[in-house]
Amino acid sequence: MSRFVYADNAATTKLSKTALAAMLPWLEEGYGNPSSVYQLGRASRRALDGARDQMAKALGAKPEEILFTGSGTEADNWALRGVCESLGDKGKHIISSNIEHPAIANTLADLEKQGFEVTYLPVDADGLLSAEAVKAAIRPDTILISIMFANNEIGTIQPIAEIGAIAREQGVLFHTDAVQAVAHLPITLSELPIDLLSLSGHKFHGPKGVGALYVRKGVRLPTFITGGGQERGRRAGTENVAGIIGMATAMDEAVKHLDASMAKVTALRDRFIAGITKLPAVRLTGHPIKRLPGIASVVFECIEGEAMLLMLDAAGISASSGSACSSGSLDPSHVLLAIGLPHELAHGSVRFSFSEENTEADVDYMLEQIPPIVAKLRAMSPLWEEHAHA
Ligand code: PLP
Repeated sequence: MSRFVYADNAATTKLSKTALAAMLPWLEEGYGNPSSVYQLGRASRRALDGARDQMAKALGAKPEEILFTGSGTEADNWALRGVCESLGDKGKHIISSNIEHPAIANTLADLEKQGFEVTYLPVDADGLLSAEAVKAAIRPDTILISIMFANNEIGTIQPIAEIGAIAREQGVLFHTDAVQAVAHLPITLSELPIDLLSLSGHKFHGPKGVGALYVRKGVRLPTFITGGGQERGRRAGTENVAGIIGMATAMDEAVKHLDASMAKVTALRDRFIAGITKLPAVRLTGHPIKRLPGIASVVFECIEGEAMLLMLDAAGISASSGSACSSGSLDPSHVLLAIGLPHELAHGSVRFSFSEENTEADVDYMLEQIPPIVAKLRAMSPLWEEHAHA
């Protein structure tokens, strides 16, 4: 019997019922503009302030350090472009990694066109960056280090505290794209040497199209969107009140139950990994231990990830592949190439990502459905025949 299993929680998550319930009043009767002076507006303003307090508390930050944005991508853009604008006259060098999300990678590429110079540090076969390498890359003209907290494709978690400590010791600003990590790993910003951090609501059961940038008190970041005086004049545009409230509620809920959900999701992930790696010529990518609780990325030798996704979909399973179909050609993911996978293996990558909404029955269903799909695809592959006789 076919069922529906959503195993693409790193792409987005289902909106939590608590978040939806918190949002609804602000989509119905509470429609006032938070900048308006009358009661309806003041109620929206209070709700917005409450959401900021709630998020700050969940992250161990101060309310004034949380700036709302329209996405994780926007928060990344603001951090990188903002630091370049404010410190560009002091230096033009940025340090990052070669496994960043396009929100960072493409923004850096754009900044390079504007005259900034970027050192893209390599990662090892597990996708891990060395803090020592970050230290060695710092130059007198380095103005920013931007390293993702945890990778969205393979799940590897970087030594963020160590990198941040090095940045602080050297007097360089440190930004982390924590879109995959916030509300999935314990993060207390008052205890971490992080200056700027990006997050996104829809990755932790909040709504889409809303995010935030944490800016440590004392770090100067210029206005990103000019217009009205919202976000203390730094990011104009009438606030997405319901979205922000949904995001804050989802974060509060996630952080309150973090220990239990991390344990549950890790157990589901490991049950899946144990089962799937029993298949021949299947391997896990990413760090075996330092990985996000929800992500299991797997390479199926002699299989096209995209073909596998279609067959999984037919079986009711939603997952995603490491390769992105861009302009008609299948490009293997830069992350998989960065961990040293040859092109043909990188094409056979599929990411399964779990949340606390998943069950053991979901995992067992996947482990039952996937082997015949793998066998069918390999039976059609001339490469598999060669592999079998090698
Ligand atoms: N950074 C990382 C690591 C991500 O995984 C994502 C989303 O996939 C983003 C940034 C972009 O976030 P958003 O979808 O809110 O723009």
